[in-house]
Amino acid sequence: MTARDALADLRRIAFLLERANEATYRVRAFRSAAKTLAALPADEVAARAQAGTLTELTGVGDVTARCVTESLAGEEPVYLRRLTATEGVDLDEATAALRNALRGDCHTHSDWSDGGSPIEEMALTAVDLGHEYLVLTDHSPRLKVANGLTPARLRRQLEHVAAINAALPEGFRLLTGIEVDILADGSLDQEDDLLAQLDVVVGSVHSGLSDDKAKMTRRMLAAIANPHLDILGHCTGRMVAGRPPGVTGPGDRGHRARTRPPSDFDADAVFAACAEYGKAVEINSRPERQDPPKRLIRVAVEAGCEFAIDTDAHAPGQLDWQRFGCERAARCGVPAERVVNTWAADELLAWTAGHDA
Ligand SMILES: [Zn+2]
Ligand SMILES: [Zn+2]
Repeated sequence: MTARDALADLRRIAFLLERANEATYRVRAFRSAAKTLAALPADEVAARAQAGTLTELTGVGDVTARCVTESLAGEEPVYLRRLTATEGVDLDEATAALRNALRGDCHTHSDWSDGGSPIEEMALTAVDLGHEYLVLTDHSPRLKVANGLTPARLRRQLEHVAAINAALPEGFRLLTGIEVDILADGSLDQEDDLLAQLDVVVGSVHSGLSDDKAKMTRRMLAAIANPHLDILGHCTGRMVAGRPPGVTGPGDRGHRARTRPPSDFDADAVFAACAEYGKAVEINSRPERQDPPKRLIRVAVEAGCEFAIDTDAHAPGQLDWQRFGCERAARCGVPAERVVNTWAADELLAWTAGHDA
């Protein structure tokens, strides 16, 4: 294959990142690599690409070196391909189509854990929003700051949900669930028989977020392989902003006001495992989370993962935040049919039951 113009590819990537309003340091990586390489004779760049010594140059890192190597081999760099996959798509249209395709929400909290409102209020709001189902996913025991539910309290909640369901409008279903902590060894923070009973299990990391890459990867892989887990919640744990504007009340207890960097894990391995076990990657719609970052959503799309576009609502009004997640999903080319909450409740339940079987 004939070599591509590696500098043009690097500059194109920088342009697309800037246009998408990505972090400045990421854009700068591509611009400074382009600058360094532009100052060298083309055959030296080619020789270094061949020898794998591009990263010895100032301003050239692993990611940019890989792009250059791919370009010179005549391939469109994977990084560029992911950025251009959604080019020419009308984002407003794609976002609206995705939002309209959603039939429910698989990650929500009530005042039984750290939410601000009773379950009934959350359910009635979901009905008003046109949802066909809502999964109630309060926290698990070890998350004490969020008033996580002990096994006994969760059993009581299940009885309560059954009673509420009987009183809700025909055609709408309040589904049972949990946002279960993924513990340090990758096990899940709730009794097995309870997890097996629940309709939907979202598993999230809430502690040890600065664990090193190998440890975090092992931990996440163990959780994904657990037959009870259906959806991997906010996988990087990052906080891109403090609380969203206007959210100060008890509805956001347990959600930090400070920013936090994403945790470090082997995204290729984690998303490959999600695809292999048929587990969904959550696209968390909360404005202060925006998790996973778009770059990782694109990796998960290519890995063949399924997704859940959820609000992680801690108050009824937040149930309308799905559009934020839809916009990011649309930007990354997430196909609607791979979003599990575009499916009917029965289909969703068959999918989660399949994991336990
Ligand atoms: Zn969480
Ligand atoms: Zn949550």
